[in-house]
Amino acid sequence: MTYLGNLTCSDCGLTFTSRWGSVPGADEYRCEHDHSVQASSTSGAIVLVEGAPVEGPTLADLRGLCPLCRTELASGLLPQCPVCGGRDHDVRVDGTLG
Ligand SMILES: [Zn+2]
Ligand SMILES: [Zn+2]
Repeated sequence: MTYLGNLTCSDCGLTFTSRWGSVPGADEYRCEHDHSVQASSTSGAIVLVEGAPVEGPTLADLRGLCPLCRTELASGLLPQCPVCGGRDHDVRVDGTLG
């Protein structure tokens, strides 16, 4: 499920609009530089990088590293605050896609 909404940063108080979450059949991962990577839930193949379709390697091929910047990917992360880089936010979901 892809969520659209407002996030209020717990660290600096900024409220910003973002989208996050997985697309159908995939899981979302984010790296230290907040690139969004979607990988197939079944095969682990990378299907979207920063919202752009790719025919890519699998997460295993990448050893769990971001295809763009080679920092570690993790699932279940909220987008980074554009000001301070924090990931601890109050979440207000305005809608969902897929
Ligand atoms: Zn912040
Ligand atoms: Zn990255």
